[in-house]
Amino acid sequence: MSCSEACTSGGFRGKLIVISGPSGAGKTSICNALLEQLPDTVWSVSVTTRLRRVGEDGGRSYTFVSREEFEQRERAGEFLESAEYVGQRYGTPQRPVVEALSRGQNVVMEVDVQGGAQVARTMPDSVRIFVLPPDSAVLRARLEGRKTEDAEQLARRLTIAEREVAEAKAGGCYRYFVVNDSLDEAIAQVKAIVQKESGAA
Ligand code: 5GP
Repeated sequence: MSCSEACTSGGFRGKLIVISGPSGAGKTSICNALLEQLPDTVWSVSVTTRLRRVGEDGGRSYTFVSREEFEQRERAGEFLESAEYVGQRYGTPQRPVVEALSRGQNVVMEVDVQGGAQVARTMPDSVRIFVLPPDSAVLRARLEGRKTEDAEQLARRLTIAEREVAEAKAGGCYRYFVVNDSLDEAIAQVKAIVQKESGAA
């Protein structure tokens, strides 16, 4: 989809912070910390067709919609990027992102590697960070521990995780890779990257 001139030229005062990484790598905890600890930083609420998990409120985590509604919004050109992940659709509404960046706010978004590649093209000035688990055993333990997926979904997410890491490393869309071994250290590293990219450090 087309993006305004400001998107491609990076003519915004705010920074778009793109966080990717395999399911269970700890992206959400890192994003939450960024939102709490960085001034003037807002969350990009994605739209998804997947089922809501226990504890997820509509509005903050995602806007949950039917596939029909998703596709209709996609056809209308509403998304900055969109992807299919484990059989479900995910997309980022463009307007709130552009509006916040224009106001000078930073925007944090969490997307898979397909989304990261699209944002790298349309918003080259974005700060794209890939969060890695220390190893695959830790990833499996984290995913099993959160008990949000059934066995089949879990197996699919683990397979995709390996592919995503390989794609992210080979693809060149991510300038930064952060290993989330200790959450506090990972948060500190991501914050330092954002501050450096914003010219604040
Ligand atoms: P989950 O179902 O675990 O919330 O998310 C599954 C995957 O979709 C994660 O890798 C997450 O980062 C990604 N995701 C969440 N929102 C979006 C989005 O708006 N666009 C894209 N491309 N991926 C998303």
